[in-house]
Amino acid sequence: MKFQSTRGQAAIVDGADALINGLAPDGGLYVPLVFPTIDFDWEKLQDENYLQIGQLILSTFFDEFSNNEITDFLKSAYRDFDDSKIVEIHQLDDKRNLLELFHGPTLAFKDMALSLLPYLLTAAVKKNGSSKTMVILTATSGDTGGAALKGFNDVPQTKIVVYYPSVGVSKLQRQQMTTADGKNTHVVAVTGNFDDAQKAVKNLLTDHRLAQKMSAASLGFSSANSINIGRLVPQIIYYVYAYAQLVKNNRLSAGEKLDISVPTGNFGDILAAYWAKKLGVPIGKLTVASNANHVLTDFFATGIYDADRSFQVTSSPAMDILVSSNLERLLFDIAGPKAVAAWMKDLTDKRRYQLDDFSLSRLQDSFNAAFADSKTTAQTIQETFQQNNYLLDPHTAVAVSVNKDFPSNRQQLIVATASPFKFAETVLKALGKESDNDPQMNLNLISDLSGQRVPLAISGLFDKKIIHTKKLAIKDLLTDLNEALGI
Ligand SMILES: *Cc1c(COP(=O)(O)O)cnc(C)c1O
Repeated sequence: MKFQSTRGQAAIVDGADALINGLAPDGGLYVPLVFPTIDFDWEKLQDENYLQIGQLILSTFFDEFSNNEITDFLKSAYRDFDDSKIVEIHQLDDKRNLLELFHGPTLAFKDMALSLLPYLLTAAVKKNGSSKTMVILTATSGDTGGAALKGFNDVPQTKIVVYYPSVGVSKLQRQQMTTADGKNTHVVAVTGNFDDAQKAVKNLLTDHRLAQKMSAASLGFSSANSINIGRLVPQIIYYVYAYAQLVKNNRLSAGEKLDISVPTGNFGDILAAYWAKKLGVPIGKLTVASNANHVLTDFFATGIYDADRSFQVTSSPAMDILVSSNLERLLFDIAGPKAVAAWMKDLTDKRRYQLDDFSLSRLQDSFNAAFADSKTTAQTIQETFQQNNYLLDPHTAVAVSVNKDFPSNRQQLIVATASPFKFAETVLKALGKESDNDPQMNLNLISDLSGQRVPLAISGLFDKKIIHTKKLAIKDLLTDLNEALGI
């Protein structure tokens, strides 16, 4: 299996190099040179567990690894999940199914891929016979940082550098990042928002002078952001698994179409659903759910991507994004590398680009898009708790809310991307409850309300020692990184 850049100006590489590079040298993202398809046998797959389905998907995309290697990666990656099934499907009512992806070590769906990525990446480095230390440079809106720090904690031959925005992250997200105690971790709060941090990181990743200095010190960059193909492929697994489970539970008959709604920020999770559809999973419409930063809603309505607008800090911080990186992979699929390169140049130069009508109509064939503001999101949390006795986190609530805007006769899969425990203060407020100054107390309150125990992964988190206290401006990141790497 080979990979090409969405901008068409970089060499075609194998999976190992795509994993190691993260971003292609022309600034594009890696996509398969020939997109694979699988003839899914749902009768068989409904009895397979998550790891078995993982085996099928990973071996399709990363054929340079042996079956035994892939089995080992999967077993090790999901060993610490709180649930033996790894993901759960919760039936909200007769049509809506929530795909719970928050049973990993940091209680958000980022764990699904970031638990696996270190194994893929270190194996890729070995395969290429490189003795380099990989520097995993990560911009986070809150969840990627925690999950990457867990995944790469003390993994040999890696250093993990996390830049998170100083405003917007939840107390629990901050605590998860600032207490990361691996010897290979470096965590810094950055003044500005996620987009600023993401742009700064992209600039560092493509800084030639920095690359030379690193190379001389036997260091190489990679990325744990969803620009890395190693983030996306593991996310396909749960869509295939979910479809198989819905067949098993008689919610679907094999071949029947399933609609999917995804709370969306960087467009990684929903792109994985689109790729699952391309692979051959019977998926109907995909619904892009956004919060008050509704660049994507406007884009799918008008074909104009306009990032030149004010950034809103919302109750769903992991979706507070104005430039959705993975959209580029979708655009490549409908219009090819020339068009993508031109649009991305416009985005850099003018903060906007515009699709032609044909490309826009192709997007609209596959996708719905709408948004919910923080008020509607809070109402959805309250309503769903009252009517369905289920506590949603604010990100999932955005998707539940937006899903209602698109009535359909099909079964609905709504992706539940975070645990309500992770955003306890927001959830309590939505329910009209006072939250406590002590974040641990708020976890206990959520536990009482939901009837679920506080997840083991975060018990004791607020007693942990804070290790990372640095706060810097964007312009100081290059110096900071040089220092952190000792170059
Ligand atoms: C990252 C994240 C999202 C957005 O996912 P993308 O792949 O960036 O679109 C939604 N919800 C939660 C809880 C997240 O952590």
